Amino acid sequence: MNRTVTSKIVDLKFENIMKYITMEKKVKTISKKNLKRETNSKEVNIGLEVHCQLTSLKTKLFCGCSTDYRGKPPNTYTCPICLGTPGTLPTLNKRAIHDALMVALALKSEISKETLFYRKNYYYPDMSKNFQISQYDSAGGIPIASGGLIKVQFNHTGRVIRIRRIQIEEDPAKLSHLGSIDSSSYTLVDYNRAGIALLEIVTEPDLKSPKEARLFLQKLRSILEHLDVSDGRLEGAMRCDANISLGKGNRIEIKNISSFKEVERALIFEIARQKSMIKKGLIVDMETRHWDDVRRLTTTLRIKESEMDYRYFPEPDLVQSLFPRN
Ligand SMILES: [Zn+2]
Repeated sequence: MNRTVTSKIVDLKFENIMKYITMEKKVKTISKKNLKRETNSKEVNIGLEVHCQLTSLKTKLFCGCSTDYRGKPPNTYTCPICLGTPGTLPTLNKRAIHDALMVALALKSEISKETLFYRKNYYYPDMSKNFQISQYDSAGGIPIASGGLIKVQFNHTGRVIRIRRIQIEEDPAKLSHLGSIDSSSYTLVDYNRAGIALLEIVTEPDLKSPKEARLFLQKLRSILEHLDVSDGRLEGAMRCDANISLGKGNRIEIKNISSFKEVERALIFEIARQKSMIKKGLIVDMETRHWDDVRRLTTTLRIKESEMDYRYFPEPDLVQSLFPRN
């Protein structure tokens, strides 16, 4: 069943994809010398950023709001802290640290001696206080753990997928659009999800195919469920961003893919789009793209921002968590 659906999408893509690319935007061309190199390059590099809600927690990451928000009226499970009202102070949920440490041990990651939360500043309706509390290490934060691995069985051989880091952060609000994101005339915001504890698990770009990415996610989900820290059956409990590049080409990030099946579809589409562009001598720009699961294609969300754009700085309202070696 899956195979039939997937191959139908691929056929559709190859027939129409150049028309779609031309419609989408003015494109730059690639030099003849680089074209040969890029066309010959068949290597696909995929890295995943998996956002897993710590669903066993009863309250949000930094406040006492209940996490039992599914199926409830929008914007009813909120308080001044998770809405970011000025003057409120976050308090770190101890159980979030406990669950994150269990995941780190299961993935053979190295637990940091201390963690440090940073503010990721950005203006967008999904985060009403205009910053997200995170632990992103390249910007100065200290994630709860680094390194690690997950073994995946693929084509009867074992593959090792390296983990880059595991960090704790807060979930943003849920945005809903009528129809597709680029045609909807309005956006609905539900802050019930804002402030839910998330574990972000980031892989190295070790995955070589969309199918392998799906198998990796299934394995990760089974580990998290076995540890009883995240229930992947709950709507939106596991979400994924995927980075993909072909050969030495630019890296494209696909945001907020809602299910494992959609991850595979989005990656299949993106590989076909990039290969078609390269074959036509067009440059694949580094950018962030949105997966439209209704039309089953990716669209430009924004040109990729740099870390500088987020003006990271240490979260002054939270103390460090220390993990002595003994
Ligand atoms: Zn709250």
